[in-house]
Amino acid sequence: MPTTDLAQLRAALDPQAIGPAIHALIRELYPICRSITGDGLRQTLARVGKEIPLEMHEVPSGTQVFDWTVPREWNIREAYVKSSSGERVIDFRRHNLHVMNYSVPVRGQMSLAQLRPHLHTLPDQPDLIPYRTSYYKEDWGFCLPHRQLEEMAEDEYEVCIDSTLQDGHLTYGECLLKGASAQEVLVSCHACHPSLCNDNLSGVAVATFLAQHLSQVPLRYSYRFLFIPGTIGSITWLSLNEDRARAIAHGLVLTCIGDRGNFTYKKSRRGNAEIDLAVEHILKHSGSGHTTVEFSPYGYDERQYCSPGFNLAVGCLMRSHHGQFPQYHTSADDLGFVDPGALAESLATILSVFDVLEHNRSYVNRNPKCEPQLGKRGLYSVMGGNNIKQLEMAMLWVLNLSDGSFSLLDIAERSGLSFEVIKNAAEMLFRHDLLAPA
Ligand code: ZN
Repeated sequence: MPTTDLAQLRAALDPQAIGPAIHALIRELYPICRSITGDGLRQTLARVGKEIPLEMHEVPSGTQVFDWTVPREWNIREAYVKSSSGERVIDFRRHNLHVMNYSVPVRGQMSLAQLRPHLHTLPDQPDLIPYRTSYYKEDWGFCLPHRQLEEMAEDEYEVCIDSTLQDGHLTYGECLLKGASAQEVLVSCHACHPSLCNDNLSGVAVATFLAQHLSQVPLRYSYRFLFIPGTIGSITWLSLNEDRARAIAHGLVLTCIGDRGNFTYKKSRRGNAEIDLAVEHILKHSGSGHTTVEFSPYGYDERQYCSPGFNLAVGCLMRSHHGQFPQYHTSADDLGFVDPGALAESLATILSVFDVLEHNRSYVNRNPKCEPQLGKRGLYSVMGGNNIKQLEMAMLWVLNLSDGSFSLLDIAERSGLSFEVIKNAAEMLFRHDLLAPA
C-alpha cells in the first residue's frame, strides 16, 4: 500500500530494519578522515549523495563570509612518528584521530623533548585518543593514548606529516525537498569530524534517512537539508543565502543523536518558537525520559542560525548532550557507542515533530453558539475501542478552543492530549463542516 502522509509513514517505520540501515551508513563513513575542508568531506558528501539528491557547493578559499574568511583547504595522505629502530609508534593509518586536524606539513628528526609539546593525550582517560584541531592557527600535532606516551622512550624520532594546506575550496552539500509552501524547515548537521560517530556521523546519517523518508510524501513545508562543516559552514551558508534564510520558519540542528542516552533538546534563542513547543510536546508524550535546556550561545551551528541578525527558530536535538559524555571528542565515540535502536528512535521522533509542524494550524468553529450535536452527525461512534473517550474529549476541546486564536498544538497542550489525537479530531470535525481554517 503506498504511504500517503507523514503520520502513516512514521507509523510504518520498522525499527528492526531502519536502525541497522542507519548504522550501516555510519560504518561506511567512519574510516574517512574528514575536516572542515578537503577530500574527506567531499567523499562523505558523495556517499550521502547516493542516498538523496544532494547539490554540492564549492566555495573558494579566501571568500569573505561576514566576519570570517573561508580557510585554505586541508588534505592529508599520511603521518607517523617513527622510532630509531624503524617502528611507527604513532601511525595515522591506524586511526585518523592520531593527527591533529589541520596540521601543517612536517618532516624531520627530533628528540622526545622536542616532540613532546606536539603530543596530546588525556591523562584522565589514558586509553583514549583525543580529538584535536587547529583550524585557524598554523600548528601541527599528534594525539595518542596517555599510556602510550608514558611508554615512549628517549630516542631520535622521525616525524612526518604529509599534508597540504593550500588555496582550494570549502565544500558543503544541500538537499531541498519542495513542499506546497515556500516556507522552509531547516535540518542542519556538521560533517567535519573525522572518525567520530555520535558527534557528527549520527547527525549526518539520521538527516540522510530523514530526507529520504520525507521525499516519499506530499509536504506542506519545503525542507532544506544542510551537510556542512561546523561553524564556518553555517556562517558561509548564511552569508551566501541571506535572503533564503528569511524563508526558514522552523529548524533543527542534529548532533549526538545516536547514543543510548535520553533525548536532550536545546531550545532556539526565541525559546517559545513553534519548533520548541513541537519538540517538547513530542518528547513529553513519548513516555521516555528527556531533558530540555535553554538556549546558550555555545554548541553547534544553532549559534549561527540564532545569532541576533538572523534569530531563526532553530533548536538543537541531541540524545546525550555534547561535551557532557565521557566518550565525547575521543576515540571512544566509535561504532559501538552509537546504537541502531537509538538511531531508529531518533528518526521516528523527528518525523513525529515534523508531523506536528505539517499539521499545526488554527481553525474556527462554524457552530460556536453552544456545542454542536455530535451524535446526530455520527461523531460519537466513529472509532471503536478505547480511543473513543479520548477522541470525544479531543473533539470537545477542538470545538471549544477553535476561535481562530489557538493552534492545534496549543489545544493539545491545554487539554493534555497528544497532538495526534487532537489532529485526528480536527480532521474529523473538518470533514463534517464543523471547522473552517482560521
Ligand atoms: Zn564536535
